[in-house]
Amino acid sequence: MSLKKDVILEGIAASPGIAIGKAFFLEDDDFCVTCREIPEYAREVEKKRLNSAVEKTRDELKMVYNRIDEVLGKSYARIADVHLLILDDPTMKKNVYELIDNGINAEYAVFRTVDDIVHSFEFIEDGYFRERKVDIQDIGKKIIWNLLGKQKKTLASLEEDSIVISRNLTPADTMTIREKLVKGFATDVGGKTSHTAIIAQGLSIPAVVGLKVISSQAQTSDVIIIDGNRGEVVLRPTTKTISKYRKEHTLQFAKKKDLEKLKNLSAETTDKHKVLLFANIDNPDEMESILSNGAMGVGLYRTEFIYFNRDTMPSEKDHFENYSKVAVAMSPYPTVIRTFDLGGDKLAKTGLLKVEREKNPFLGLRAIRLSLKYPEIFIDQLRGVLRASAYGKIRLMYPMISGIEELYEANEVLNKVKQDLRRENIEFDEKMEVGAMVEVPSAAMIIDAIANEVDFVSIGTNDLIQYTLAVDRVNENVAGLYDPLHPAILRFIKKIIDESHKAGITVSMCGEMAGDPYCTPVLLGFGLDQFSVSSAQIPKIKRVIRSISFENAKKISEEVLRCGSRDSILRIINTISTQ
Ligand code: PEP
Ligand code: MG
Repeated sequence: MSLKKDVILEGIAASPGIAIGKAFFLEDDDFCVTCREIPEYAREVEKKRLNSAVEKTRDELKMVYNRIDEVLGKSYARIADVHLLILDDPTMKKNVYELIDNGINAEYAVFRTVDDIVHSFEFIEDGYFRERKVDIQDIGKKIIWNLLGKQKKTLASLEEDSIVISRNLTPADTMTIREKLVKGFATDVGGKTSHTAIIAQGLSIPAVVGLKVISSQAQTSDVIIIDGNRGEVVLRPTTKTISKYRKEHTLQFAKKKDLEKLKNLSAETTDKHKVLLFANIDNPDEMESILSNGAMGVGLYRTEFIYFNRDTMPSEKDHFENYSKVAVAMSPYPTVIRTFDLGGDKLAKTGLLKVEREKNPFLGLRAIRLSLKYPEIFIDQLRGVLRASAYGKIRLMYPMISGIEELYEANEVLNKVKQDLRRENIEFDEKMEVGAMVEVPSAAMIIDAIANEVDFVSIGTNDLIQYTLAVDRVNENVAGLYDPLHPAILRFIKKIIDESHKAGITVSMCGEMAGDPYCTPVLLGFGLDQFSVSSAQIPKIKRVIRSISFENAKKISEEVLRCGSRDSILRIINTISTQ
């Protein structure tokens, strides 16, 4: 009898599904380094450990140098030369040795030394030298990585089914893991509606986030099971557990096949009340998947992802090509293009440096605020959207509107861009509808005023919940407080829908709540017109809609609105009969 036991870690279910593979560590930009005391007798050994990590780093840098030399030539390869010079810097080495002599472990000694140097760089006026701090940080990270013994490879070198493990994956990192061999991922930090989780859903990659310790407990090449349905990870599972999960995976595949039968049926209740099911996308590559799941339009195209993983700003042409591709594929159904929502947890490395230095990025220069601050970037995007509107049914949507003035200002820029295009004889849809996201409590409170100025609104519950309940959507420590069924949220949603209908406009919801089957009857009963959800959720939401009557849904939603506590709301929802 085997005594081996599974190690089960509990986290937050970020993207559904089951995945099995070997651990693959992705370097994280700000991984944690802990300080340990090294007894006097072990300090020389600690220095040797440091030296071999430095040598390993040197070998890696030389490989990079040779590769750049081969592809781009010697002048470019000098960039890697700078890294080698930093690695051999005698002062840096002396400082690290001194810390080890004082009983500090090598990882922390490198971390402290690099941090001190980087701090002193903050006061240097010269831009070139100030930016060299990035190189120093980079080298420090490489040495620490080698000290930690994490095997570092690029995703391109994957040879078998793998599970990506990282302390943190940024949304930009997540965009790069659309590798066939990446079966899932697990991170220490993160929340259910973080953009990293949302992208994983878009890519249909099972994921668990907020595990707190996965990056320190897993080892390279450990077998790992990701259970994205329950929010669990099994480390080094027994063969019995692996076979249990394989069976569950097969069962889920069968269920998915069953749901596919709904593809060509409309999203209507048993008493014939119709709503529309749209899809959220981050990338034109998702079109095939959303069409095969029966989407009747794109309700949210998160265009900020065009700005990721590149060194320069996207051009008007880049915008045009992306949007027209989606609009043509979706035609005759609509495509809602949201202007870029950078900031918050979505930072692009394209020169918007002020954003990167903010202390409270979710409350800072994000979304429409950034667009209005950098009109030249906004204008490039608007020109791309308008030009693409000649090729399909495009609607434009502004993110994070918090007051009516922002709407006026954004429309003013839009009108100027339209005038320019007319002057240049460039075709666009003169009747293109313009809408606003309602995702900030102030916008929800003045929805009557906003509804009179736009053609449609879309409720962004991911942020509406974050800002109303004061719960950071990417912070695993407060994930338990992040609650779509909080009475305040439900009352806001009802208000938004009622006031918008009074003004004669339709209401969509594109936050994750729209894709939660548990919330569907209540939203339906409130009178929501469109549900915009990630591709895989479309058939699941359709199944709930088709199994309930509108009358019943309305009754339920009236009851929950009278509740002042979450518990009483849950009691009502749990007794739903889908008749
Ligand atoms: C939202 O906030 O609900 C939303 C859809 O926008 P994002 O998730 O991109 O912030
Ligand atoms: Mg949002």
